[in-house]
Amino acid sequence: SDVLLDIKDLRKYFQISRGFMRRNTGAVRAVDGVSLAVQKGETIGIVGESGCGKSTTGRSILRLVEPTSGSINFLGKDILKLSKSHMREMRREMQIVFQDPYASLNPRYTVMQTLIEPLEVHRLHTPKERKDRVYSILDRVGLDSSYASRFPHEFSGGQRQRIGIARALILNPKLMILDEPVAALDVSIQSQVINLLEDVQKEFSLTNLFIAHDLSVVKHISTRIMVMYLGKMAELATSEDLFADPLHPYTRALLSAVPIPNPSIKRDRIILSGDLPSPANPPSGCVFHTRCPYTQDVCTQKIPEWREAKPNHFVACHLA
Ligand code: SF4
Ligand code: MG
Repeated sequence: SDVLLDIKDLRKYFQISRGFMRRNTGAVRAVDGVSLAVQKGETIGIVGESGCGKSTTGRSILRLVEPTSGSINFLGKDILKLSKSHMREMRREMQIVFQDPYASLNPRYTVMQTLIEPLEVHRLHTPKERKDRVYSILDRVGLDSSYASRFPHEFSGGQRQRIGIARALILNPKLMILDEPVAALDVSIQSQVINLLEDVQKEFSLTNLFIAHDLSVVKHISTRIMVMYLGKMAELATSEDLFADPLHPYTRALLSAVPIPNPSIKRDRIILSGDLPSPANPPSGCVFHTRCPYTQDVCTQKIPEWREAKPNHFVACHLA
């Protein structure tokens, strides 16, 4: 096997500062024991509600947040142990595309300035080669070279996200963290951008982590999908297997929100009730027990083990 990224027991606890609501002091367990080995060329979908730790997991890999514990092996190095300057070099190989391209693009930079900056920072190529590279990347993401002299506000949301993707591609990285890259776009534009991401994934031999709150968004692009709930892994399986045979009640609840294209497929619908508990005060035992329709005594007392219920299909549930 050819593992590009190996995350082991990743945790990120945020300390809550003392305010007037003293009962809220303590740690928010944003990511609470995530382990994942990503093969070269895979696209892993990471799915869950906001606050489940999916973005924090992605950002930990780039060290945009510093994890509390665990290890992240990438290209043979534990990146959590790298010095700042080594990490800067390593960032060339790992890029992120954010949900809101407008917030992540400098409004006073032209597209050319935005795209050429990473090449300058990493001292790659001659000035002439840099410009040529910008034009070729623009072309690759479906934007005319005349756009190079324009500013972010002159573009539509979909075009801006293409610029965000171009900026991530320009350094020719090995790993892409896609943090809800289509969530802010019109539904009609979403599939175009997903198709683009699928095309460049093959062309640039990328390995992707595709973060989304909606299973249907990652269904076709993902080789495997990991479902997270309150900082923990609930289920991990191939995309096909997860949709055909979801084992965790939470996954089934998420799937209940996805329209079924073939109505002859009968699936028990689980409608989630109750609010998402606070990650500062997670439920005992299985963290999903306050919302699970199948909760039993054991669920409130014992944390379910992460186990391989079927070949290559992992789940954390006492009953699955
Ligand atoms: Fe539901 Fe219990 Fe499974 Fe948790 S362990 S998902 S509460 S059945
Ligand atoms: Mg997020």
